[in-house]
Amino acid sequence: MERGGTYKPYRIKMVEPITVLTLSERVERIRAAGYNVFNLNADDIYVDLLTDSGTGAMSQAQWAAMFLGDESYAGSRSYARFQEATRDIFGFSHVLPTHQGRAAENVLFSSVVKPGHIIPNNMHFDTTRANIIANGGEPVDLVIDEAYDPQADLPFKGNMDTDKLTALIDEVGVGRIPLIMITITNNSGGGEPVSMANIRAVSEIAHAHGIPFFIDACRYAENAFFIREREQGYQDKAPVEIAREVFSLADGMTMSAKKDGLVNIGGILAMNDEKIFAAARERLILMEGFPTYGGLAGRDLDAMAVGLREALDLNYLQDRIGQTRYLGEELMKAGIPIIEPIGGHAVYVDALGLLPGFPQSQFPALSIVVALYEQAGVRAVEVGSVMFAHPDENGDVIYPKLELVRLAIPRRMYTRTHLDAVVDGMARIATAKDNLPGYEITEGRGPLRHFIARFEQVAHS
Ligand SMILES: *Cc1c(COP(=O)(O)O)cnc(C)c1O
Repeated sequence: MERGGTYKPYRIKMVEPITVLTLSERVERIRAAGYNVFNLNADDIYVDLLTDSGTGAMSQAQWAAMFLGDESYAGSRSYARFQEATRDIFGFSHVLPTHQGRAAENVLFSSVVKPGHIIPNNMHFDTTRANIIANGGEPVDLVIDEAYDPQADLPFKGNMDTDKLTALIDEVGVGRIPLIMITITNNSGGGEPVSMANIRAVSEIAHAHGIPFFIDACRYAENAFFIREREQGYQDKAPVEIAREVFSLADGMTMSAKKDGLVNIGGILAMNDEKIFAAARERLILMEGFPTYGGLAGRDLDAMAVGLREALDLNYLQDRIGQTRYLGEELMKAGIPIIEPIGGHAVYVDALGLLPGFPQSQFPALSIVVALYEQAGVRAVEVGSVMFAHPDENGDVIYPKLELVRLAIPRRMYTRTHLDAVVDGMARIATAKDNLPGYEITEGRGPLRHFIARFEQVAHS
């Protein structure tokens, strides 16, 4: 074993050059970008931790599979291979490819959600929430209370509170709940895992009431890794066996293959229910394409078929989760407060923990994101007041409880050297934290302003 107890299960045979600008160039670029990292050119970034979605590196087996892509409009060999892989891992009788996760959500919810319907989840991801609302439904988050406490150290902090679920069903009635979902791992709650026991309990409640149970499976392989590591009785099981057990408890799934599908584009909608499938297939043809390609090229289906299996490789998962853990632990050693326990795909820096007293009206997490880019060329993302502060009925601003800086790690892409640059940059920021400026918005409003807003620096009070 190497230092840190793991080894690197791959080596590099194709390189993508990246540039490192000087400090003064970076200061100039981020100013020109209106202090919004979404406005930066990728070329101006050294380590890009904006998202783990669709940003990872494919393997030689995936690239080789792409050459076998069959671009027949209907019934392609690529679809057959995709169907074979998804049936083997997830076990659902019907599977539809989509161009990404939100397309699978749109097809599903527009098939089953009617105005007045309620969809429970541990925590809905943004696109899930938006697609339910767009179809007249109401998304409800039923995660355990501890998920909202950054210090609560639980092995399965993504679990759904089953008492809340039963209470909700009793309150609104089965007729208003067309399906129950659970998201593994819980992306919006820090990438925290959900236990097999919890998935089983939710499945039993759903089925006792005759309600279909769907899984938002984006990070199913990372969740399987955590079950193997932390849940009694799974230590000797292969991740694929754990995944099969998880999905055997469900009636269907949506997935962005840009996560644990290890591809740059792709999504999945799968299920057993014949009636929902018939409706979904019709919607898919309207919105995505014929059911055997669903908005993708045949070669994309082949890359997904291979990636879905590679994501379950234990050595891959050890390296993947190990990288996230390494980054989190090194940050803690450097005195940077982070959300614990460290989740699967990202490390979240607690901005108010690092900058106590920094006014939320001046965007403390944004201040760290900008400084991290200036100091180290690292692109992180603000998950705080820029994203979530909003006015109430009286026009008073409601600030979020947490101000976070998310460092999401692309799969199989960066080395420890890159992660060390992130730690060094954050350590420099911690040393000079009293000099960090505040920010005010000069442009951009509404719930999606974080993508487009521009800012100016203000001396902080
Ligand atoms: C990324 C993600 C989605 C949406 O997938 P896209 O491919 O970005 O459309 C849905 N749910 C979760 C949990 C996600 O992480």
